[in-house]
Amino acid sequence: MIRTFLIVVSLLLIFSKTTHGTEGHRKVAFIVVHHSDTLSGNVEVFRKYHVNVRGWSDIGYHFVITNGTGVDGEIQRGRPIDKMGAHAKGRNRGSVGICLVGKTRFTEKQMDKLVLLITEMCQKYDIIPSEKTVQRHHEHCPGETLDLSIIIEKVKKALKKS
Ligand SMILES: [Zn+2]
Repeated sequence: MIRTFLIVVSLLLIFSKTTHGTEGHRKVAFIVVHHSDTLSGNVEVFRKYHVNVRGWSDIGYHFVITNGTGVDGEIQRGRPIDKMGAHAKGRNRGSVGICLVGKTRFTEKQMDKLVLLITEMCQKYDIIPSEKTVQRHHEHCPGETLDLSIIIEKVKKALKKS
């Protein structure tokens, strides 16, 4: 009985230490880019949907980049970056999720801000931009028209300048 109790206590200690130790120091190694597949939207709209409809604790994305239906090209903060997101099944651990508002077309400002944001993430987490570290969610997300390799090249250039 005492032995079981001690095992439980030590397991609890190990667990709390691990979770505490990672809080605020989440290891981020790659970025996943999404689109909302809606014509309009913003962080509040998606947060409401994820919390009220999906029943999640918060919005799944870490960032939302708005299109011209509200402010054009505004980088909005979603889930705190030190918390694991809920945006790409099997790839939430170790990633940052960025969502572009839009269905098939994105604005120039959105593309500029996407480059800026990914550049910042690369600097913050020591990520070398490549097809491995800057990923699409899947074939249809973020939309078939968006070529991430162009974004990656722009990020590389921006990192060289800084
Ligand atoms: Zn997606």
